[in-house]
Amino acid sequence: MIPAKSARKSAKTSQTRPVGKGVASAGASHTTEAGAAAAKRKSSGKRSANARMPPDAVREMFRRFAEANPAPKGELEHVNAFTLLVAVVLSAQATDAGVNKATRALFAAADTPEKMVALGEERVRDFIKTIGLFRNKAKNVIALSEALIANHGAQVPRDREALEALPGVGRKTANVVLNSAFGEPTIAVDTHLFRLANRLSLAPGKTPLEVETKLLAVIPGEYLLNAHHWLILHGRYVCKAQRPRCEACPIQDLCTAPDKVTV
Ligand code: SF4
Repeated sequence: MIPAKSARKSAKTSQTRPVGKGVASAGASHTTEAGAAAAKRKSSGKRSANARMPPDAVREMFRRFAEANPAPKGELEHVNAFTLLVAVVLSAQATDAGVNKATRALFAAADTPEKMVALGEERVRDFIKTIGLFRNKAKNVIALSEALIANHGAQVPRDREALEALPGVGRKTANVVLNSAFGEPTIAVDTHLFRLANRLSLAPGKTPLEVETKLLAVIPGEYLLNAHHWLILHGRYVCKAQRPRCEACPIQDLCTAPDKVTV
């Protein structure tokens, strides 16, 4: 496992494009000093543009996420590091549920780079034709399988640079694989994390890389490994883009989001 310090340092390299789009259960209200402070801040007027969620509130937020869901998991189905890598590549601009529907049969037929290459691009395309951009994705799945065989002994490398050199693999995909397959404390910034980081002033930024770098700096080290799972689940099921479920939110008292709905 790379230390958090290294992960923070490595976050300063690529990806500058902004992005657009299992369950942290909602809890009862939590009366804490951090919560009381947040409530006071909210009632005392508008937040300034640069106001950040205070460190005590950040820590309390992750403490609650951890208490409610101590071992969060990603929702993309996979059986090994290779199928995780393929599933993440297929998930670009697609839902996890849609990807899982297609990959159950695909991974039953091919769960290694060798089997995927033997299957061939046309058959891979057939398996994943319900997923957006399937033609290009099928090409990438075959190309990355060939690259793994040629350059990495048919194994998924535990190395950011090597991962990002694979066809169809960018920083976000590399972060998911490093975290979920190898236990590295990386943060994959998807649409939910990007929205939450900005909405909650947790780690405001204009690009995924800026948000990732700030998240790595503000999330307490003991929560880094699971942080992106908790944030994705919170964004997907509670703090939704259009209608955040503030009434069921376990961190409502910590939240100072301008669009928070109070009852
Ligand atoms: S906006 Fe609403 S749902 Fe999102 S974190 Fe704040 S209180 Fe929770």
